[in-house]
Amino acid sequence: MAIASINPVTGEVLKTFTPLTESELEHKLALADRTFATYKQTSFTDRAQWLNQAANILEARKAEFGIIMTLEMGKTLKSAIAEVEKCAHLCRFYAEHAPAFLADTPAITDASRTLIRYQPMGIILAVMPWNFPFWQVFRFAVPCLMAGNVGLLKHASNVPQCALAIAEIFHLAGVPEGAFQTLLIGADRVANLVADVRVKAATLTGSEPAGQSLAAIAGHHLKKVVLELGGSDPFIVLKSADLELAVSTAVTARVMNNGQTCIAAKRFIIEEAIADQFTEKFVEKFKALKVGDPMQSDTDVGPLATPQILAELDLQVKATVDAGAKVLAGGYRLPEKGNFYAPTILADIPLGAPPYQEEFFGPVASVFRVKNLAEAIALANSTSFGLGASVWTNDLQEQELAIEQIEAGAVFVNGMVKSDPRVPFGGIKRSGYGRELGIEGIREFVNIKTIWIR
Ligand code: NAP
Repeated sequence: MAIASINPVTGEVLKTFTPLTESELEHKLALADRTFATYKQTSFTDRAQWLNQAANILEARKAEFGIIMTLEMGKTLKSAIAEVEKCAHLCRFYAEHAPAFLADTPAITDASRTLIRYQPMGIILAVMPWNFPFWQVFRFAVPCLMAGNVGLLKHASNVPQCALAIAEIFHLAGVPEGAFQTLLIGADRVANLVADVRVKAATLTGSEPAGQSLAAIAGHHLKKVVLELGGSDPFIVLKSADLELAVSTAVTARVMNNGQTCIAAKRFIIEEAIADQFTEKFVEKFKALKVGDPMQSDTDVGPLATPQILAELDLQVKATVDAGAKVLAGGYRLPEKGNFYAPTILADIPLGAPPYQEEFFGPVASVFRVKNLAEAIALANSTSFGLGASVWTNDLQEQELAIEQIEAGAVFVNGMVKSDPRVPFGGIKRSGYGRELGIEGIREFVNIKTIWIR
């Protein structure tokens, strides 16, 4: 894929970039390697100061960075600005808490003194997606830098200006040269990087095939990997739920980021007793969504990021309808220029149709009816994914059962699944492994050293 910014609203090529040559790439790797030797000796106080400064820059220039995101991948400008603010919050969070998260932990053994120490590993490679072009990178980079590692970013090829802006932010914040670098390279050059002895570990957020490919190479070279892959999160609504709140949250949970979110609710599993009511309100709200220019403040849903994503989503919807599903809203590409798809609701979906197994990466909701919670959990668990799940019930026993039995990295009760720096984020099954954020996230890429003193 060419490295280029292409406006998803107009299809206009805004800027193209020449990938790094082999010698430029080698120069950056060597710089990262040299930098690690000194960077790992910097203090938490210094690192925290750099990251707090990065937060200041993000906050001061949030509109500018928001516009870059919107122009490159089509998210609404208001959500892009909110994403920049969330990155600033993340910087401040780890600046404050990383010293405690990585402090020596005492243990009691047969020794006179036993400690667990968390030491940086070296160069960590991050392969990142375009859908949250700032947030995905910051949630890797900030704990990486606070832990004393150095980071190399291979961002998605359609968001190069975001990738360059992020490197500039860390540079302006005072992060030592070489501690965080953007590599403008295609996916075909990731394998060699993972194999390079100077790269100690890698993290990838993206699709299953990309994750499989990176994990295979890392496995061959015995390197640690964190994978954040796709999801088809269930959103279960049971009869005791606050229906109004559940419906309005359901809409947001499906269409945020123009429907291109790994933890978006994708399968709406509704108890029979309230299914008609839920569906009627859900359809009404979907039909009222404003689709259009993501720069406008009243737009709810902008374009999909690329024509390929649009074409794939359209095929999935057509295959579901051909299998016998009903379309309650949308169900078509919008005729205007750009990658627009009408917010869509599918219902009466025959067993085996795409929504049962595939991730729909766009504003398309699939509604299922079930008799009770047991059926809901069985359906929720019937995919190969296990990222997040949202369950709506005011019955405490049902809450506990859902929390215990749903196969996912997160269960949110009476709320929408979201990422939060204070708690770990990640999936199970084919949604990946390892965690980002929280104390668990910063401890993924450290050498957990046991110290035993007689
Ligand atoms: P993608 O095609 O897998 O791209 C993600 C990144 O991987 C890009 O930088 C891409 O580079 C690179 N890449 C692609 N193939 C690769 C390979 N064989 N080896 C190494 N790198 C490779 O994913 P996407 O379609 O852009 O993103 C959407 C997917 O990401 C969805 O499935 C979504 O659910 C998932 N996602 C997951 C999370 C999470 O936290 N779990 C968060 C966001 C998104 P190029 O751009 O150069 O191809």
